[in-house]
Amino acid sequence: MVQAAGVSRNGSRDIGPVRHDWGRLEAEALYALPFADLMFRAQSIHRENFDPNHVETASLLSIKTGGCPEDCGYCSQSAHYDTGLKATKLMAQADVVATARRARDAGASRFCMAAAWRNPKDRDLDEVCGMVSAVKDLGMETCATLGMLTPAQAARLRDAGLDFYNHNVDTSPEFYDKIITTRTLQDRIDTLANVRDAGIKVCCGGIVGMGEEVEDRLGMLVMLANLPNHPESVPINLWNEVKGVPVNDTAERPDPIALARLVAVARILMPKSVVRLSAGRQYMTDELQALCFLAGANSIFIGDVLLTTKNPQRDRDVNLLDRLGVRSRLNQMQPVAPPSAHD
Ligand code: SF4
Repeated sequence: MVQAAGVSRNGSRDIGPVRHDWGRLEAEALYALPFADLMFRAQSIHRENFDPNHVETASLLSIKTGGCPEDCGYCSQSAHYDTGLKATKLMAQADVVATARRARDAGASRFCMAAAWRNPKDRDLDEVCGMVSAVKDLGMETCATLGMLTPAQAARLRDAGLDFYNHNVDTSPEFYDKIITTRTLQDRIDTLANVRDAGIKVCCGGIVGMGEEVEDRLGMLVMLANLPNHPESVPINLWNEVKGVPVNDTAERPDPIALARLVAVARILMPKSVVRLSAGRQYMTDELQALCFLAGANSIFIGDVLLTTKNPQRDRDVNLLDRLGVRSRLNQMQPVAPPSAHD
């Protein structure tokens, strides 16, 4: 096994400053540590930077679903595939704000608005900016994921009150072309730079279980860790089964221990980033989620659906967090009544 500089087999602490020069071999050496050593190292770094008994809770709403011109091979919303999903128009601001208010009252601290676009048109951005400002007025952190952005569009979203912009790299540079052909990885990096330059915090991660190798997963993390600034949020998505998409032919759900190892490496490479268990959490046992929290994951999406896929039910999440003694806005709030006709 490769033994990288600064990686101690006995798990001793070697935390050091935030780095942007990680090598693949270093990441692979961390990943290959004996499990207890890897977990100890990740947990030690986690405790240096975060309250280990707190998890952030975010909520995600699809404000414009389906009909996307991109060909991301995992996505139910791509117009390239027959997934049976009905495309919708951009939601009305009042409906978005009502949903955000319910999410806040159910325990979400951040509200992410997602639109299935290659990039927003300026008239669409007018609408989204109005939504961002209104959600911000609810006292929530705001996030949006709208596709590629120009510097001017990023500046407009910032001025509207956008705190975070999500734009995932999805996978490693080597595997990327097997998943997406209509948008290059450099396009994504450029949008991340435009977002960062506008002063918006970056949410960027990827998907695990599309048929990539472990080296691809680590390559993705190394790419993120070597950006000029680490993303403030790093979502780790588990591949979600979707009818009619090409990734079905290669997808393979990762071994749970492999997933916990990956989360631990993400924590070590990006010590101050919030690592979020995102899509696919409904496939994870409570025990695996607990292991991922130990490895340094400290954010989850709450709510019954995530865009077009399922998410764990509220009761299950509250029960798990309570049993672990983990605090969050979710298990501090009472369940909210279902929406009324006037919401
Ligand atoms: S850009 Fe987003 S919505 Fe469009 S196909 Fe890719 S993942 Fe789906």
